[in-house]
Amino acid sequence: MDTLGSASPPKLSFDNGGEFIKQTRREVEEYLSVRRTRVRGRVELYAKGVVAFVVLTASWLTLVLGHPGPWLGLVSFGGLILGTSLIAFCVMHDANHGAYFRTRRLNHLMGWTADVLLGLSSYAWRVKHNVAHHTYTNVDAYDADITQVPFARLTPVQAPRPWYRLQHYYIWVLYCLMALRWQTVGDVAALARGSIGTSALRMPRRWDLAGLVGGKVIFVGWAIVVPMLVYPWWAVLCGYLVYSMIVSLIMAVTFQLAHCVEEADFASAEQLAGERRLWAVHEVETTVDFCPRNPVLGWVVGGLNYQIEHHLFPRVPHTHYSHIATIVQRNAERHGVRYVTQRSLRSALGSHFRHLRRMGRSGVPVALEMG
Ligand SMILES: [Zn+2]
Repeated sequence: MDTLGSASPPKLSFDNGGEFIKQTRREVEEYLSVRRTRVRGRVELYAKGVVAFVVLTASWLTLVLGHPGPWLGLVSFGGLILGTSLIAFCVMHDANHGAYFRTRRLNHLMGWTADVLLGLSSYAWRVKHNVAHHTYTNVDAYDADITQVPFARLTPVQAPRPWYRLQHYYIWVLYCLMALRWQTVGDVAALARGSIGTSALRMPRRWDLAGLVGGKVIFVGWAIVVPMLVYPWWAVLCGYLVYSMIVSLIMAVTFQLAHCVEEADFASAEQLAGERRLWAVHEVETTVDFCPRNPVLGWVVGGLNYQIEHHLFPRVPHTHYSHIATIVQRNAERHGVRYVTQRSLRSALGSHFRHLRRMGRSGVPVALEMG
C-alpha cells in the first residue's frame, strides 16, 4: 500500500462518544472534583518545575562561571542534561498542552520554555505535537512522529526500502540529531512549508512571532555565545553537540516507547476513512504505558510513561496520571478496549527495537503483516 500523496490528504475524523470514554471521564472528573486532590497535583507539578529550573540554572552557572575541575564539570554537565530533560517533560510539555495553568496566556508563556531553554519553537510544537500527533496518533502521514520516510519505516503501511533493513541500528543516531534539526532548520522549514504532517502551520504573528525569534536568540545566547566568552569556541561546540544529542536521544526514545512498539496499533488514512473509529479507543490502542511501578523514572519523564492517560486527558497535570491509570485500565477491561502496559524499561526498549527491525525487514502485503 502506498503512503499518502501530499496533494490532497483526505479529511479524517473520529467518533467522539462511546461508553468507554464516557464512563472513564465521569470517574476521572469525580476523582478531580476533590479539592485536596487537585491542589496536591498542582503543588507537585510546581515543585517539580522549581527543581527543574534550579538544577538547570545551577549546572549552567557552575559550568560557565564556576571554572569547575573535571569531576565537578562532569557532574554539572550531567545536571544540565537532567535539568533540560525535566524542563521538557515536566514543564514545557504540560504547559503547551494547557495543563500547567488555568489560562491560555499563562500556559503559552510557560510554553516558551521550549523556545528559550530547548531551542524549539513552542508555536510549531503545538501544531506538531498537540494537533498532528495527539489527534492522528499513529496514522501514517498525519502523525509526524511516526512519519520519518525516507529515513525510517515506522509503520506497516509505509513502503519498504533496502536501507530500512538496518534502521534498528542507525535510528539511534537520527534520534540524537532530532533536536539539532528542529533547533536549526526544522522549525524554519515547517513554517516555509506551511504544514507539519497534514496539519496547517500558519506564519506566527505578534506574540507568537516574538516568542519564536526572541526564544531562538536567547537560546543561542546562553547555550553557545556566553560559554564562548569563557571557553574556546571548539570546546563549546563539542560540548553543545554532545549535550544536545543526549537530550535529543532521551526525548525521542521516551516519546517513541509509547507508540512505536510491537504492541501498538497503526493505521492508514484509507483504513480510517473506511470505518468510523471511536477516538478514545484509537488513542488507547495506538499507545502503550511503560514502567508503571518505577516512581523515579515516572517522576523524571513527567508521567510520559503513562501516555495512554496523557492522550485521553492531555489538559490534566501529569502528576495525576498514575491514579487516573487505574480508572482507565478498569474501564478498558470493562468495555473490551485493548490496554497494554510494559512492565520494565528493558521490555519497552526491546519491543521498540524489535518493532524497528520488523518494519525494516518486512515488505509483505499489509494484510499479512498485521496478522
Ligand atoms: Zn503530549
